[in-house]
Amino acid sequence: MYPAAFEYFAPRTVDEALELLARHGEDAKILAGGQSLLPMMKLRIASPRCLIDVNRIDGLAGLRREGDRLVIGALCRHADIAASPIVHEHLPIMLDAANQTADVQVRNRGTVAGSLAHADPAGDWPAALMALDTTVTIAAKSGRRTLPLADFIVDAYTTQVAAGEIVIEVSIGIPARPGGGAYVKFEKRAGDFAVASAGVQLGLDGDRCRTAAISLGAVGATPIRASAAETLLQGKAISPDLLSEAERLVRDAADPFPDTRGSVEYKRHLAGVLFRRSFAIALNRSR
Ligand SMILES: Cc1cc2nc3c(=O)[nH]c(=O)nc-3n(C[C@H](O)[C@H](O)[C@H](O)COP(=O)(O)OP(=O)(O)OC[C@H]3O[C@@H](n4cnc5c(N)ncnc54)[C@H](O)[C@@H]3O)c2cc1C
Repeated sequence: MYPAAFEYFAPRTVDEALELLARHGEDAKILAGGQSLLPMMKLRIASPRCLIDVNRIDGLAGLRREGDRLVIGALCRHADIAASPIVHEHLPIMLDAANQTADVQVRNRGTVAGSLAHADPAGDWPAALMALDTTVTIAAKSGRRTLPLADFIVDAYTTQVAAGEIVIEVSIGIPARPGGGAYVKFEKRAGDFAVASAGVQLGLDGDRCRTAAISLGAVGATPIRASAAETLLQGKAISPDLLSEAERLVRDAADPFPDTRGSVEYKRHLAGVLFRRSFAIALNRSR
């Protein structure tokens, strides 16, 4: 199918993009990688009257280290993450997410910021980055504001980005060592969206779990932090009994809805299994 007719603009600066957004209000949509927006337009689920293509704006591409944070520009593609030495060295959980998102073509165009702005409940970036100290910076004509990811995503396909605003960067705290992270997803076919997914970021103190962050994807309207399981693990020596109890708490934290990918019971069970798998990989990487 063809999308409905729309006007097209390709601003060269963030200010120009904000000017266009202000002028066109609710009629305008930002076009980043186009990997979610264009399929929706072709299916006529979305019919914006005006597209503001941000791909020609200098300064939004790529990623860089700033002190103890990794800063990702709004045009940083999934493939840029997978190719980054900083990610390989410090944030393997992000490497897992990049490599499990869609296929090579989508990864070459799709952006991390676009994935967060789209806020698909089964999206890999919202789920994986929820296990990290992630903030999102939004620009408007009136200024900029930075929000934790947990506040940025409000509901399924709904974020704090209002008409007239644009996400300009995503910032992630580089985890302290010794520690490690992993993101595991279960999909029905290679390259598909998750039936369920789990991210774990651990900090170790010998054989004790100094800190544990656990995120779940596709088992709720938004990504979920399994905070009761995190609290249980904190400061404890890692043992099979402790992990069984943590798995039970992870299953309890999941809040899935039934659909063609599976029943509530199946997805809840899967959340526990994926937690155990990502925990094992994270632990191995920590050591
Ligand atoms: C075949 C296929 C398979 C896929 N499989 C997966 C998968 O397994 N896992 C997964 O997570 N994703 C998957 N995706 C989605 C893909 O990851 C998209 O790249 C991503 O969801 C959106 O990023 P984008 O840059 O393409 O955004 P776009 O499609 O350009 O935009 C998406 C939405 O976000 C808004 N937006 C984009 N950038 C900004 C910004 N800077 N500020 C404010 N709003 C913005 C747009 O206006 C639009 O509403 C798949 C896509 C396809 C086509």
